[in-house]
Amino acid sequence: DTIGENLDRTVATFPRREALVDVVSGRRWTYARFGAAVDAVALGLLAMGVERGDRVGIWSPNRPEWSLVQYATAKVGAIMVNINPAYRAHELEYVLDQSGVRLLVAAQRHKGSDYRRMAERSRERCPALRDVVYLDDPSWDLLLDRGAGVPPERLAARAATLSCDDPINIQYTSGTTGFPKGATLTHHNILNNGYFVGELLGYTEHDRICLPVPLYHCFGMVMGNLAASSHGACAIIPAPSFEAAATLRAVAEERATALYGVPTMFIAELGLADFAAYDLSSLRTGIMAGSPCPEEIMKRVMSEMHMPEVAICYGMTETSPVSTMTRVNDDLERRTATVGRVMPHVEIKVVDPASGVTLPRGEPGELCTRGYSVMTGYWEEPEKTAEAIDAGRWMHTGDLAVMREDGYAAIVGRLKDMIIRGGENIYPREIEEFLYTHPKVADVQVVGVPDAKYGEEVLACVIPRDPADPPTRDEVAGFCRDRLAHFKVPRYVRVVESFPMTVSGKVRKVEMRARAAEELG
Ligand code: ATP
Ligand code: MG
Repeated sequence: DTIGENLDRTVATFPRREALVDVVSGRRWTYARFGAAVDAVALGLLAMGVERGDRVGIWSPNRPEWSLVQYATAKVGAIMVNINPAYRAHELEYVLDQSGVRLLVAAQRHKGSDYRRMAERSRERCPALRDVVYLDDPSWDLLLDRGAGVPPERLAARAATLSCDDPINIQYTSGTTGFPKGATLTHHNILNNGYFVGELLGYTEHDRICLPVPLYHCFGMVMGNLAASSHGACAIIPAPSFEAAATLRAVAEERATALYGVPTMFIAELGLADFAAYDLSSLRTGIMAGSPCPEEIMKRVMSEMHMPEVAICYGMTETSPVSTMTRVNDDLERRTATVGRVMPHVEIKVVDPASGVTLPRGEPGELCTRGYSVMTGYWEEPEKTAEAIDAGRWMHTGDLAVMREDGYAAIVGRLKDMIIRGGENIYPREIEEFLYTHPKVADVQVVGVPDAKYGEEVLACVIPRDPADPPTRDEVAGFCRDRLAHFKVPRYVRVVESFPMTVSGKVRKVEMRARAAEELG
């Protein structure tokens, strides 16, 4: 099936069930209405001359039109390019240019961002960009009006030319380890991933999924939207961007059965002063993904938030995204120490990064994955694609993992962040987790820095609890001694106010390493 065919099937099966709710505006769509609204946008795209394979950008915080554009581009066989709403002008231009977007659908403004001004500027600088359509603007109404003049048979005729192996989506990675790369994904890649995520969560047409996570990221558009639409479930948009109170209010008012988030979102929700006032009894399940979850938080999410079935997912943009996931009956230990086991119809293995040989269970190495979920490649970057996907179609994730005896995988860090000191492999996360327990440490990141004698040395960047009383290097070393192997004890300690972050909230260790190497000469 293509995404369009799959949506049409859901519309035909569950026409009167709710498909989408926008809490802020109070607008709601049944599947019958949603299908018709998607077709209206798709006809508008045909009227604008959008051909199969043309790139259509979407640049907006979460709102219903985002989802309409997602399904409408799939229906006309265009390649949707999701653009991060936190981008600034130069990042927008990089992505528009790199992917060759010809039509951009953009919001006008949100919070401090003037999308319209930045989009107008990029119009002059990106020659491929022919049209920009703004939401809440006559240009959007014009798109719909022009679509109304196109005979609906033209949409069916276009659908007949499409294949589920066509690329329909370019998603840029978060840029945690360098420049964002454009993962090129097909209907087959993301529709299957969304379907199986929904299947493992037990979704039916009775489920209502609250999505405070960004739609521009695969978390929202695949694990949220596609998981919902392939099972006849309803997607709920609580707010344009994350707000803890608005999220819990949406869960309570809309009787959501599932809630998504990265760990920091759940922490913010649990930390609301009036947390106990929200009726969360309708919740059953949900997903926590993106980074490791502290055990205390997992416990409270499972009990106080009524989500005993909450799943941990691991994945990356390049793999549609989910590769491993916990299962309904997993215990607390598996939900906090691991990222679950492999998804149906996907393979994973842990290899020695140097030799590529599969390692025995229990030994850390690079996680590789193969199956329907692996992208076709990075958009117009054949060298980077060849570095990531080998001749056997295995995607080398760049993540370090341990495959346990029980078949569950634990992530221990990123290959690029691993420190090799005098031949010993050091995993920064182990040292970070240990240093979190130091009373003077509020937050800590560990990186490797060049060293003439050992190749690399361990540096800890510490945000102190009390800026007036930061821990010294001797205090940190003393704390570690006898409890960590000597080669893991930080040689250097830097006290900092904050860490360099990506727009999606991940720490950029590349930048920390570069800064530290410079300082140390
Ligand atoms: P870039 O590839 O541009 O450097 P990125 O890898 O952060 O950025 P994404 O594709 O958004 O971009 O994120 C995928 C990465 O997130 C994974 O490779 C992994 O390192 C991390 N990750 C995802 N899920 C989990 C999880 N459950 N636990 C720990 N880490 C996770
Ligand atoms: Mg990555």
